[in-house]
Amino acid sequence: MRTRLSVCKRKRRFGSEAEALAAAGTPKTGLRHYRCDRCRSFHLTSRLKGKRIPRPPANEVIAR
Ligand SMILES: [Zn+2]
Repeated sequence: MRTRLSVCKRKRRFGSEAEALAAAGTPKTGLRHYRCDRCRSFHLTSRLKGKRIPRPPANEVIAR
């Protein structure tokens, strides 16, 4: 999959897979790492393949 340059620029960059894995923490966080074909580094993504995650409601709206 191709990564958009704008996404690449604002994402955190990891020089190695091990670093990305460490930053992602446990699998429970739902974060996955992937190799970016723009910068050849690793980024983290919360998007799971083939699985839609419903967006949590905005906290500001509820706090009232
Ligand atoms: Zn990148």
